[in-house]
Amino acid sequence: MAPRAIIDFHTHPWLPDQLAPHTVEFIRSISQALRDHGDRLSEPAYAVSVLRDQGVRNAVLLPEHCPRSSGNVRTETVVEFCAASDGFFVPFASVDPNSDPDPAGLMRRYVEDGVAGLKLYPSYQHYYPNDRRVYPVYEICRDAGIPVLFHIGSSVIPDTRMKYCDPIHLHDIAVDFPDLVVVMAHGGRGWWYDACAFLAAHQPNFHIDVTGLPPARLTALFPDLERLSHKVVFGSDWPAMPKSPRANADAIANLGLSREAVQRILYDNAAALLRLDRSAPPIPHPLVDGGH
Ligand SMILES: [Zn+2]
Repeated sequence: MAPRAIIDFHTHPWLPDQLAPHTVEFIRSISQALRDHGDRLSEPAYAVSVLRDQGVRNAVLLPEHCPRSSGNVRTETVVEFCAASDGFFVPFASVDPNSDPDPAGLMRRYVEDGVAGLKLYPSYQHYYPNDRRVYPVYEICRDAGIPVLFHIGSSVIPDTRMKYCDPIHLHDIAVDFPDLVVVMAHGGRGWWYDACAFLAAHQPNFHIDVTGLPPARLTALFPDLERLSHKVVFGSDWPAMPKSPRANADAIANLGLSREAVQRILYDNAAALLRLDRSAPPIPHPLVDGGH
């Protein structure tokens, strides 16, 4: 049976010389993809072939613009990597109000360069999401109709300051930018599952990206996952993950959710947020179609 089509809303380019040494060490220690493929993952075409073989249709590719903590993979590098990927990787930008003198000017340029979203790392870049210095950047994203993906949850990166991730600070954005599309990466990992689920349920433009959460435990972490399924996107952190996007997607398909909910989480919601083609072939369902 053909594998389920997936959109992976959260991947990173493997560019070890642009990551902090502890980030590289951590990724090497957990990544099955690096054990299987080594540093060839740094070649865009090779990375595409590895992910396409797993049924991934498109993948969001994220910068790691956190010079004081995890690394410094800049947006320009991500845009270049995506341009060499035959339309497979979808570029997101990142800006840092603490090290970029003009984050809004930078963001305006990245939108012109065709980025499909913005990734912010409050706990690695050290500011609250409702910091007024970032508001002009949100205005640009809102006006361009592109989502802002926040890292919201625990992390092993040294000099992480968890206070900046507290979802209470996202609520100001919901009030001040009701039309801004927000995605909470890691769904509040470790600390704030309920707060993220509450925001996704009650704020029309708030979503959860399940990256970095054990897929088999998602219904334990989010008891309302079926009802929330129109607000949840699949992501993997590839190649920084112990298994594979395919294995995680299959685990989600086996949670006992409805066929429609699985299709929304693995494909449709991300396609809508990224304005990609939504006419993917229907996803086989383990209960309806007898496994995979
Ligand atoms: Zn990530």
